[in-house]
Amino acid sequence: MTTIFSKIIDKSIPADILYEDELALAFKDINPQAPIHFLVIPKKAIATINDIEEADKTLVGHLYWVAAKLAAEMGFAQDGYRAVMNCNEHGGQTVYHIHLHVLAGKALGWPPYQDKLKPKLV
Ligand code: 5GP
Repeated sequence: MTTIFSKIIDKSIPADILYEDELALAFKDINPQAPIHFLVIPKKAIATINDIEEADKTLVGHLYWVAAKLAAEMGFAQDGYRAVMNCNEHGGQTVYHIHLHVLAGKALGWPPYQDKLKPKLV
């Protein structure tokens, strides 16, 4: 299944791209939930955490490496941040192409959720 993120990867729709390599892309979230909020996604379309295969383990680790690299370069690594993935409806996932949310720029509350379902985006 293709999603809006496939179009961001192939540049058919614009995004504010922060980092790109052969495996991953990082871009600002269109609806930021913190002063700094960007997404790190694999170029390979994997729908949910549940669809990560053994062969994808290095790729998923790479997403965290990109998050940490950008945190250092953007200057918020020491203050801290959150890097999370939502999975399926109860996890609040709306785009079915896995993505690491990186949220920073303020002291983030915990728990990070509101008890409500979000509509699935296509
Ligand atoms: P999820 O709810 O699946 O965990 O997160 C999806 C995220 O993608 C949301 O934070 C949403 O704001 C973001 N998003 C959805 N569509 C677009 C888009 O077209 N461009 C960008 N930059 N972010 C998007």
